[in-house]
Amino acid sequence: MTDSKSPLIEINAQISAICEQSGRDSGSVQLLAVSKTRTADELARLADQGQRHFGENYLQEALEKIAALQGRDLVWHFIGPIQSNKTRDIAAHFDWVHSVDRLKVARRLSEQRPAELPPLNVCIQVNVDDEDSKSGIALEAVPALAAEIATLPNLRLRGLMAIPRADSGDNSRGAFRQLAMTLSQLRNTMPSLDTLSMGMSADYGVAIEEGATMVRVGTALFGPRTA
Ligand SMILES: *Cc1c(COP(=O)(O)O)cnc(C)c1O
Repeated sequence: MTDSKSPLIEINAQISAICEQSGRDSGSVQLLAVSKTRTADELARLADQGQRHFGENYLQEALEKIAALQGRDLVWHFIGPIQSNKTRDIAAHFDWVHSVDRLKVARRLSEQRPAELPPLNVCIQVNVDDEDSKSGIALEAVPALAAEIATLPNLRLRGLMAIPRADSGDNSRGAFRQLAMTLSQLRNTMPSLDTLSMGMSADYGVAIEEGATMVRVGTALFGPRTA
């Protein structure tokens, strides 16, 4: 079903246009539909329009939707803060985790990843501009954590993720640029890293201009969150 006015189609068109303006291949940016607080039916409607990647913040809610949408060949990304007593379910039910910010959690995810599944794709969450935030590690600490994670057998380190402070548009540009530079430095020793998860509804265009390979969009796709 294609509805030319659907936000999904508009955002995908926007992503392609920004890629073109920035001299990037439009296949180089993945749209992650951030579906926290949305019902399984809302996700199903988006999946019917071709969206495959979904990002969830709250484990319990996510597990219910993952079960409800089984068999649709969707790719599930955990993007919320991780309590270490939740790692087992995350390791068993998700394909990606964007919010790894300490070794203890990485070790548990690797140990608890079921043997029959491929390695869990992970990004390190970096705190680029907000000293008060409890999520994410400092930029300076990234190389050491990356080196440790790279040794864990059931994880596949893919790159970096950040949530710059909640002001929009060009204000995020500096933070995005710092994250991109940090990834580029890491790639000197870890050339397989290929993911920059940055940009949300308000600033995904700027993020793409600065090199994002995955943008995490909620409100612009589904409308304002009420819950
Ligand atoms: C909620 C959330 C988003 C999406 O935010 P919108 O402003 O609704 O696009 C992206 N990333 C993370 C980590 C989130 O928690």
